[in-house]
Amino acid sequence: MSRFWKPGTEKPRLVDDEEGGVLFYTASSSSSSGYGHASMEKQRQRLPVFKYRTAILYLVETHATTIIVGETGSGKTTQIPQYLKEAGWAEGGRVIACTQPRRLAVQTAASRVAEEMGVKLSEEVGYTIRFEDITNSELTRIKFLTDGVLLREMMDDPLLSKYSVIMVDEAHERSLSTDILLGLLKKIQRRRPELRLIISSATIEAKSMASFFDTSRRRLGRDGEENGPRKNPAILSVEGRGFNVQIFYVEEPVSDYIRAAVSTVNAIHDEEPMGDILVFLTGQDDIDAAIQLLTEDPHSRKQGLIVLPLYSGLPRGDQDLVFSPTPRGKRKVVISTNIAETSLTLEGVVYVVDSGFSKQRFYNPITDIENLVVAPISKASARQRAGRAGRVRPGKCYRLYTEEYFINEMSADGISEMQRSNLVPCVIQLKALGIDNILGFDWPASPSPEALIRALEVLYSLGILDDDAKLTSPAGFQVAEIPLDPLVSKMILASNDYGCSEEAITIAAVLSIQSIWFSDRGAQKELDEAKLRFAAAEGDHVTFLNVYKGFIQSGKSSNWCHKNHINYHSMRKVDEIRQQLRRIAQRIGIALKSCEGDMQVVRKAVTAGFFANACRLESFSHNGLYKTVRGSQEVYIHPSSVLFRVNPKWVIFHSIVSTDRQYMRNVIAIDPSWLTDVAPQFYQHQQLNPRPH
Ligand code: ADP
Ligand code: MG
Repeated sequence: MSRFWKPGTEKPRLVDDEEGGVLFYTASSSSSSGYGHASMEKQRQRLPVFKYRTAILYLVETHATTIIVGETGSGKTTQIPQYLKEAGWAEGGRVIACTQPRRLAVQTAASRVAEEMGVKLSEEVGYTIRFEDITNSELTRIKFLTDGVLLREMMDDPLLSKYSVIMVDEAHERSLSTDILLGLLKKIQRRRPELRLIISSATIEAKSMASFFDTSRRRLGRDGEENGPRKNPAILSVEGRGFNVQIFYVEEPVSDYIRAAVSTVNAIHDEEPMGDILVFLTGQDDIDAAIQLLTEDPHSRKQGLIVLPLYSGLPRGDQDLVFSPTPRGKRKVVISTNIAETSLTLEGVVYVVDSGFSKQRFYNPITDIENLVVAPISKASARQRAGRAGRVRPGKCYRLYTEEYFINEMSADGISEMQRSNLVPCVIQLKALGIDNILGFDWPASPSPEALIRALEVLYSLGILDDDAKLTSPAGFQVAEIPLDPLVSKMILASNDYGCSEEAITIAAVLSIQSIWFSDRGAQKELDEAKLRFAAAEGDHVTFLNVYKGFIQSGKSSNWCHKNHINYHSMRKVDEIRQQLRRIAQRIGIALKSCEGDMQVVRKAVTAGFFANACRLESFSHNGLYKTVRGSQEVYIHPSSVLFRVNPKWVIFHSIVSTDRQYMRNVIAIDPSWLTDVAPQFYQHQQLNPRPH
């Protein structure tokens, strides 16, 4: 085990007392553990927000916007929509919406609320995430959805007229869609004074959010003659009842946080009393690696340890395991991404192991590259993670970084996603909603002008915006209709001209899920061999077409998937998304047509969408060094690509991940002359001529 500094035994430390901000309150002695045989109703009444039920309903009644701050697990997400419904906000056919930045959180919140209300999910309580609509337009009264889906709904119903209350949850995450949504909701409020907003979060600078939503003119007495709710937002803080959490730091920085996490879990299991463990790592790869170490290494194979992963995209059955109560005499270890930081509450966690990292998006407008990077978390996140240990009794948090690092190196707060994202999807969405002056839009936090200009430039060269920066007709409007990254949508649009829309739609469906391969822990070799069976010399996109074809020919067989190391669950999803995309394509006038094996046209269609991601091979060093044509950034083909070590001269990538280097994921070989064909303004001929070495 990594060595942890133990605080003086007689005086346990409160979280963050060094900063004077004690976030976790000692529970009042009357509060019970949350375990036991209490009825659902009793459980609901024990949640901290219950005490504030009347106050919340009063504030929502009397204020256009109510800001609610409350610790994770206090009942904001699951209870407030129910209170609103009980108070009549869903009468007369109206709907209560609750948005989440994460898909998994939408699903779990909706199923929990349906369970508490004793109704069938999809009827009175439903949810919508991209490509999955579990609602009933007649019956659904409480609807959970991602903030991205609510933005999409505005394209058909700009004033979101069916909603009486919109609760924007997890606002502290400052996801890109949340920020856009907040800006637009503020506009809607002006047109729909009866609409109520609730902004809720675990930690928010409530004051700055309140001043953003404060549309009361200079105070004219007490709201003058005006009817309707008051325009100045109300702020309510729900006092949590988390228990104290003791913090331990490593004495020396760790070099491998996965191994350090595993040995810490083992040590906790050996030395500490019962109670579940929650480990924060960064993504599926990390999580799989840690689980492999925990379950396969004979030294750490442990009696009574139930090891479970938790990340977005996890199949339903695995999600349920995470939330089901730990059997007596066992200890659950949940290895999670930062989804368990505030979006989900796991009952029974007493120990938290915090790697200090999460996967974050970073966009550089100069190089035009958006990276998914494993980056240090902020102090605010570290605090949230620690708090997860204090749900049921005093807990312990093991930070896999030094105290000195926490105090001196970690930034206080994260940067909002708006300020570190490629803004192409955001710009097209605003344009589609008729917001022309994007620079002048009322953002909760302004994006960088460079990133905005870059986005406008890309959309212009894609033919989506015209010289006046308006959506082109029909291309711009068509692309905006497709609920995908605009580059993927453009590929689908172009495939209409090339006569390969069926293929483009299959590729788009595969690109929109995490992976179609089954990453069997420890079976890398078998996986590589399976990939070879489908591998196409043209690249990953064509390989996906081969896999999909095989899946269909097998009669969508799970057995076939299993034999070929393909994730059956993912393929079913691909098939479903494909059907939805085909319907959308037909609606916007794209003819469904297959090119019957002519892969040249498929590659051209990919190029028409992704030309901005073109790269040229520079040298064979490090398994192939490429440079982006625009920006001259050094990039490499990811080892998971079928083109790894094949190194075609010219390629286009779908996305970049950074670890030790910048790796291109999902790569396809192209002919450089296509670049000037599809995007003459973007690429000049002379740029593409190979440089003499
Ligand atoms: P908040 O939004 O304030 O973080 P939630 O409303 O999500 O809180 O959760 C309140 C409580 O409801 C949790 O502490 C937990 O006890 C219970 N809960 C929420 N979701 C689930 C679930 N899927 N399974 C079991 N219990 C749940
Ligand atoms: Mg919540």
